[in-house]
Amino acid sequence: MSARVLITAGASGIGRAMAEAFDVAGARVWIADVDKAALAACPTHWRQSVVDVADEAPVAALFAEIEADWGGLDTLCSNAGIAGPTALVEDMPLDGWRACIAVNLDGAFLCAKYAAPLLKRQGAGSIVITSSTAGQYGYPHRSPYAAAKWGVIGLAKTLAMELGPHGVRCNVICPGAVEGPRMEGVLAREAAAKGMTRDQVYAGYASGTSMGRFVEATDIANMTVFLASDAARLVSGQVIAVDGHTVNPDPKI
Ligand code: NAD
Repeated sequence: MSARVLITAGASGIGRAMAEAFDVAGARVWIADVDKAALAACPTHWRQSVVDVADEAPVAALFAEIEADWGGLDTLCSNAGIAGPTALVEDMPLDGWRACIAVNLDGAFLCAKYAAPLLKRQGAGSIVITSSTAGQYGYPHRSPYAAAKWGVIGLAKTLAMELGPHGVRCNVICPGAVEGPRMEGVLAREAAAKGMTRDQVYAGYASGTSMGRFVEATDIANMTVFLASDAARLVSGQVIAVDGHTVNPDPKI
């Protein structure tokens, strides 16, 4: 794959797994993230930028730099997202709601806004947005996260319609719970709150999938590489869950 790929939140977690998978596939990789230390720990042959995807001016500058240095872009992996506050809707603070929407939804919008002209101009390319199973169901106590992850699906379906005539595709991946630091934090907090072990909480969540386990970041990365590749040349406007098949989005743990 000779693609030029930008991955937001590419310095750790799922985004870093995406960067590694594209690198192995032969693509040129550019990662954008807010975490300078995590960026510094990434391979130096990946281009790197410190960018908050919720902030329009740095996002615009990032795409201008990509255009200047690479001459264009083949794939945008719009992956940045934060979990946001945990509360019932009736207790949800507006500033926490807005902060979560800003990164997850505004960020995906801003990246698409500045990627679209580059992709249209070359008449080819792909956008892959990371949503969540929260964007297919709901997520108790995480209303802004669920709302934003539903929102990016509407954004992606609109992008697919606007950009399809220009040869550009847009798809969404909905990861289920992913093994790694973010979910370990959730498991630890819930175990402490409920007087359970981490493994009991894990088993409770995993029971909500027919495959009985969390997914791994590489599972998401592999799907992203596929969606960006010519093997998926007529796949657009699709929402693809990589979740071990959710059968109960709210298992009572
Ligand atoms: P993470 O919490 O591990 O964070 C990954 C990176 O995002 C970090 O390096 C962080 O610095 C960066 N980041 C945070 N805010 C940013 C911003 N405003 N601009 C740029 N970078 C920013 O995340 P993850 O678990 O790898 O999740 C990646 C994506 O997958 C997110 O959109 C998330 O909502 C989604 N997702 C994750 C899971 C999961 O279980 N981990 C499940 C479903 C969906």
